[in-house]
Amino acid sequence: MPAQLTPTNHDRDSAGMTYVYPVVSRRAGGVSVGVNLNPNNACNWACVYCQVPDLTRGTAPDIDLAQLESELRAMLTDIVHGDFMRTRVPDGVRRLNDIALSGNGEPTSARAFPQIIELIGRVMAGFDLVGKIKLVLITNGSLADRPRVQDGLRKMAALDGEVWFKFDSATASGMRSINQTRITPEKQFERLAAAAQLCPTWLQTCVFALDGAPPSDAEQAAYLAAVARLRKQKIPVQGVLLYGLARPSMQPQASRLTALPSEWLEAFAETIRQAGLPVKVSP
Ligand code: SF4
Repeated sequence: MPAQLTPTNHDRDSAGMTYVYPVVSRRAGGVSVGVNLNPNNACNWACVYCQVPDLTRGTAPDIDLAQLESELRAMLTDIVHGDFMRTRVPDGVRRLNDIALSGNGEPTSARAFPQIIELIGRVMAGFDLVGKIKLVLITNGSLADRPRVQDGLRKMAALDGEVWFKFDSATASGMRSINQTRITPEKQFERLAAAAQLCPTWLQTCVFALDGAPPSDAEQAAYLAAVARLRKQKIPVQGVLLYGLARPSMQPQASRLTALPSEWLEAFAETIRQAGLPVKVSP
C-alpha cells in the first residue's frame, strides 16, 4: 500500500505524475490537488526560503495540455470516486479542499496559462466541483500585468478562484535580498492592484530571521505603509496569509535563515490588522 500522506509528506512525485500531485494541507485541513506547471524547477525569482530543490532561473516549459488534463482527471477520479482518501489520507483530513496551482516555479510563466485555467475549470465541472472547492493560484505576481495572465485571472474569478500573491517586502532592498529580484516595489504594488481587481487576492507573506535578525523596523514600517495604501486606494485585497518558515529552504542561503518565534508573528499580524487587513497566521 502506498504511504499515507501527512503534512510533512507531500512529495510532488508521490503520484508518479508529471504535473499533478496530492498534498495534505495543514493550512487547509484537507487534501489539496497540486498542479505543478514547472516540472523543470524554473522560476524567474530565487527566494532565499524557496523549498524547490535544484531551483534554476527560467520559465515554465511548454505544457502538454492533454497530459495535464488526463492526470487531473485520474487524480480526481481516485479522490472523488476511488479509495484515495481511505488508503492515503489520515483520519480527520479526508476532505478535498482545493486545486492549487503551486509548483516548482512561477505558474503564470506558462505560456498557455489561460488555457490551463480553462482546462482545470472544465475538469472541475466534470466532477461537479465548481463552487464546491477552491481553485488557488500561488504566484509571485511578477507577470500579473501581462494580458494572457490577466485573461487567466478573469477565468479564475469565474471559477470562484483565489490568488495568493507573494508580498514579502515593500522595499527594493528587501525584495532584492529575500526574493532576489530587481523588480521595484512600486511595480509590484501595481501588479498586486491589477490582480486584486480581477480575482479575489490574498497577500502571501513569509517572515523569518536572516542572519539572526528579524525584519528591521524600516522593513516592517514599509510593509505596513503598503497595507495602509491598499486600504486608502480601496484595492480589494482579502487579507494577509502570514507564514513563518514551515519547511527548510533548499537554497544556498538556507543556513542563514531561522524561524521567528510564533509570538513575533502574532505581534506583527496584530499591527497588520490595525492597519486594516485581516490576517491568517501559519507559524
Ligand atoms: S517565487 Fe516561489 S517558486 Fe519562485 S523562487 Fe520564490 S518561492 Fe520559489
